[in-house]
Amino acid sequence: ISKQVEVDISLSPRVNSVKPSKTIAMTDLATALVQAGVPVIRLAAGEPDFDTPTVVAEAGINAIREGYTRYTPNAGTLELRTAICHKLKEENGLTYTPDQILVSNGAKQSALQAVLAVCSPGDEVIIPAPFYVSYPEMARLADATPVILPTLISNNFLLDPEALKSTISEKSRVLILCSPSNPTGSVYPKKLLEEIADIVAKHPRLLVICDEIYEHIIYSPAIHTSFASLPGMWERTFTVNGFSKAFAMTGWRLGYLAGPKHFVAACGKIQSQATSGACSISQKAGVAALGLGYRGGEAVAKMVKEFEERRDFLVESFRELGGVKISEPQGAFYLFLDFSSYYGAEAEGYGIIKDSESLCKYLLDKAQVALVPGDAFGDDKCIRISYAASMSNLQAAMERIKGAIVHLKAT
Ligand code: PLP
Repeated sequence: ISKQVEVDISLSPRVNSVKPSKTIAMTDLATALVQAGVPVIRLAAGEPDFDTPTVVAEAGINAIREGYTRYTPNAGTLELRTAICHKLKEENGLTYTPDQILVSNGAKQSALQAVLAVCSPGDEVIIPAPFYVSYPEMARLADATPVILPTLISNNFLLDPEALKSTISEKSRVLILCSPSNPTGSVYPKKLLEEIADIVAKHPRLLVICDEIYEHIIYSPAIHTSFASLPGMWERTFTVNGFSKAFAMTGWRLGYLAGPKHFVAACGKIQSQATSGACSISQKAGVAALGLGYRGGEAVAKMVKEFEERRDFLVESFRELGGVKISEPQGAFYLFLDFSSYYGAEAEGYGIIKDSESLCKYLLDKAQVALVPGDAFGDDKCIRISYAASMSNLQAAMERIKGAIVHLKAT
């Protein structure tokens, strides 16, 4: 018998530098509690609580029935890429040909591949905070450095162009924009995007990834503008989008990237060695989703109306509660609230509520409501509340939060 040697279980410095997703961790914890019989109301997840529209689901079922179950081209089927080009033209005023589209297993993969395709070690990726949890980690996976640019709740968490100007350096390679934003729900007005574009235009090395995954979940009077549609920006912008949020298709894993052919081909090279083409069945469903009509037609409008009612209810309820700073979200399905007036307060049996993390723990234990602390999004004063939950659950959650928070003293 040969002598057993101890296995070297060390990990690569790259993976050691990356944090696991806190939103996923919180969602998993809340789900485990529910499975153990604890009646937790889950307001942590970033996924619509609606079903995929029936015609879209049927298209997937038909694809299986018809044996449409083989590999597709790496970049996605021509049928889907053509439909995406049509959508981008009609809804976003963007002109692309199918060879400028790369279909992937979700917007997350699309954004990561874009970062990997263009960043060299030591490059900087500018990320306005609060940010989607994965952006800094994407930079780290590419051996680049995330440079966090804080924004203010009093400015609706929108990027200050002056701050951007002073942050750009020779090492800046990518600016990541997300509008409507996760976690804040802020929507970038066209005028501000134009100011940002003017600054970006002065830096030949600086590219932009614009994550537009929440594009359809937007509340009047806010209007979505695609960054790539601004003068001079098409050449340097990766537009990232997908089906998860607008069409309630998180599990189908389908997203895409649009950009100049040279960049899209580079992202395709990575994808061809990592995952190959996206799921054939999901791509058939994606074609049906884009066939629902302008901006997703009735099915999406109905969902957005319901999200808007929930947003109004929560904003109103937190205003009544007091002690919470609010920026009214204009899109997505999150509230990002500053609870700092409660930090330092004492909770009976808990000790001092130090920060958003301890307040989330307290609310999970005491109120059985699962929320995500803001440090995961680069702002530890705030807490993210997802309103992708039924109105009755939101009403119950609000009662519980109020009941738990009365024991704390706002300062
Ligand atoms: N981008 C943002 C801003 C998100 O909030 C999410 C999901 O929460 C994603 C991308 C991931 O989208 P997909 O499911 O298409 O990978």
